[in-house]
Amino acid sequence: DVLADQIAAGEVIERPASIVKELVENSLDAHSNRIDIIVTQSGLGQIRIIDDGDGILPDDVEIAFKRHATSKIADPHDLFRIKTLGFRGEALPSIASVADVVLTTAADDDRGTMIHIKGGEILSTKPAAARPGTDITVSDLFFNTPARLKYLKSPQTELAQISDIIDRLALAHADVAFSFTHNEKELLRTPGNGNLQQVIAAIYGITNARKMVPFSDEDPDFSISGYTSFPEITRSSRQYISIIINHRYIRNFQLTKAIIQGYGSKLMIGRYPLSVLLIELDPVLIDVNVHPAKKEVRISKEGQLQQLIAGAIRKVMAQQNLIPDV
Ligand code: ADP
Ligand code: MG
Repeated sequence: DVLADQIAAGEVIERPASIVKELVENSLDAHSNRIDIIVTQSGLGQIRIIDDGDGILPDDVEIAFKRHATSKIADPHDLFRIKTLGFRGEALPSIASVADVVLTTAADDDRGTMIHIKGGEILSTKPAAARPGTDITVSDLFFNTPARLKYLKSPQTELAQISDIIDRLALAHADVAFSFTHNEKELLRTPGNGNLQQVIAAIYGITNARKMVPFSDEDPDFSISGYTSFPEITRSSRQYISIIINHRYIRNFQLTKAIIQGYGSKLMIGRYPLSVLLIELDPVLIDVNVHPAKKEVRISKEGQLQQLIAGAIRKVMAQQNLIPDV
């Protein structure tokens, strides 16, 4: 029912950036190679996501907007080995309960569907011409929940949040070509060729990307890799550190600390590197079902992982010393 969907929306859909995150994650779960994100007015005009993924079959389109009707979890054990970004079946119904949504989708060439749903009410569902993939437009956000609208920050802040989440998703999926356009201006484009350094260059600039060194290591439980900046390329904030576990961007204070520890005394107090850390682990070692937005996770053997990270960074930083200053 619409009320339950709106309550769920309160947990999952805080702001325009949450919608972008949920929709792009759906595109990624649908094996898209290309994801185009087109936004106006910091998400309060329109949020449109076009992907070339699996699409949705005609019979499944209305079901996709029903709560907990996820196609991603078949039996309860799946909850303990989650490989998709979504699994709660809450995003689409939540978004549709607080906005105007038009979704056009096709799983194959000749069976496209268009659905229009606003405030949780289906206004129309009909066959439509569509390329394989999904094209979703969200507008009139929070039209029926004015308290949420009031709670939003300035347009610049909301846009920065959208940009930030797209950056992290692009870093976590170097093999997917992303584009992000805001008010007709292209803000990001990644090649989608699997080259992480090129994604870093697209986000942080080519000069910064050249001043980052690759690192990698593994033990029986974890495999880590990524890029981290020379000790002289630092920022006054931790937010240029991205930690990605099994292609999911997460926040974790202990792992962030492990990166910083790897620099030892090379990093001045209050300065933080630019880093992208990719971690691969068996999904049984991670619990992503802690928070609806899945930003916080619980990791088993976290201490062991911290040591692996700090050690890998320490190693590349020691090699940096061999290069004489010029
Ligand atoms: P969840 O991602 O947790 O399964 P959502 O509410 O985000 O729940 O999506 C519901 C369902 O709609 C998904 O399980 C999937 O089957 C379908 N779906 C949503 N977006 C897409 C997309 N871009 N491409 C293909 N299928 C999609
Ligand atoms: Mg989802």
